[in-house]
Amino acid sequence: EKRFSIPHITDIFEDAVPIPSTFCLRSRTPVSEDFADGYPSDEKWHGYINNNDRVLLKVIHYSSPTSAGAECVDPACTWVEQWVHRAGPREEIYFKPEEVKAGIVTCGGLCPGLNDVIRQIVITLEIYGVKKIVGIPFGYRGFSDEEITEMPLSRKVVQNIHLSGGSLLGVSRGGPNVSEIVDNMEEKGINMLFVLGGNGTHAGANAIHNECRKRRLRVAVVGVPKTIDNDIPLMDKTFGFDTAVEEAQRAINSAYIEAHSAYHGIGVVKLMGRSSGFIAMYASLASGQIDICLIPEVPFHLHGPHGVLSHLKYLLETKGSAVMCVAEGAGQNFLQKTNATDASGNIILGDIGVHIQQETKKYFKEIGVPADVKYIDPTYMIRACRANASDGILCTVLGQNAVHGAFAGYSGISVGICNTHYVYLPIPEVISYPRVVDPNSRMWHRCLTSTGQPDFL
Ligand code: ATP
Ligand code: MG
Repeated sequence: EKRFSIPHITDIFEDAVPIPSTFCLRSRTPVSEDFADGYPSDEKWHGYINNNDRVLLKVIHYSSPTSAGAECVDPACTWVEQWVHRAGPREEIYFKPEEVKAGIVTCGGLCPGLNDVIRQIVITLEIYGVKKIVGIPFGYRGFSDEEITEMPLSRKVVQNIHLSGGSLLGVSRGGPNVSEIVDNMEEKGINMLFVLGGNGTHAGANAIHNECRKRRLRVAVVGVPKTIDNDIPLMDKTFGFDTAVEEAQRAINSAYIEAHSAYHGIGVVKLMGRSSGFIAMYASLASGQIDICLIPEVPFHLHGPHGVLSHLKYLLETKGSAVMCVAEGAGQNFLQKTNATDASGNIILGDIGVHIQQETKKYFKEIGVPADVKYIDPTYMIRACRANASDGILCTVLGQNAVHGAFAGYSGISVGICNTHYVYLPIPEVISYPRVVDPNSRMWHRCLTSTGQPDFL
């Protein structure tokens, strides 16, 4: 049996003594004696999570390598048992609420649901009895910039913030190094840090966790993964993804209407997805209006007899119009490499949407076929949306579990959902590589079945 181990305060502070939880669970509705067989009595029932509870990561057994297809990680196709820690409130906690000063920071780009998570962290901290809760404005920058002061948070402040998108605290890229951040945390007296962000932010959070241990500070650092691209390994989904797929429908539908209403209309929609095409794939599957879906994981040719452009010509001849959806990281090989990076050191991608629009116009002009090409990039409209109902629920549970994890004494962890159960994972596991669409997976093949597109090679 393999279970990911997650760092706990007792790893370095052997003298750390737990106290009874200050987070009270509601008592269970009394069970009538007829139905109580085998269940703990109502007095014994408490509903706290046992530290040894675990969640199984892989829940399918393949009878043969051929039925597993690409999903089988093990060539022998045997059962791979891998377990992770179950998230939730513990009966014993390692922080006295009156001694806690909690900080919340949001970094990277915007993503629907940030405010929902902030709100729920604050509300749950208050239920534990924490009085000192602050927001660090504008990402990690808020730890170094003297002009930026911490923002006091309470249930009253956060009550309605989930009704709008964005982040109450603001976001940023780049900023101070880890030792500056920890210096500033010491200055501010922050001993619980909740970090909302992507892979970069989580790398930072793990470094902060390690630096705190090096300095022997009793600090809990907990990450909530924010990636609209849904590219965190092991997790069923990350918050914001569902909203993004839903909101992308509006752009796709507009592109469809435009293309359908024009003579030889072609609609091109660019969607998020730097290294993973999940948004483009799911948005295509959901809409049923996409003829061509292009993602970073699947190479394609634009020109040539099997290229995207000649398929577009075929679509105009047979259907009269066409709609295409392209993930931002797709076809980067067609674009000039600039080596430009943003403040966090991420490579700035070339604009594949604009490139395809231009190449399409050029191609149809050259072959003398009229074509009316329209390009839609809804990226910022999608990122700024408020979370939909399903993401709202996910954010609520993640926010609550982040607080439970910190009080339980864990640090250097990230919260997530695996196989429909909520779990704690060690940060290095969630940032070790981006999860990508497997071109041999059932889902990508379902997408191809739905669009009817050929291989563009
Ligand atoms: P997004 O998905 O929006 O890109 P992200 O968290 O990856 O989110 P970044 O801009 O890459 O966004 O990083 C956010 C913050 O994390 C920045 O302030 C950056 O300085 C810091 N950071 C990035 N990589 C590291 C790293 N390896 N170690 C420490 N800090 C890092
Ligand atoms: Mg990133």
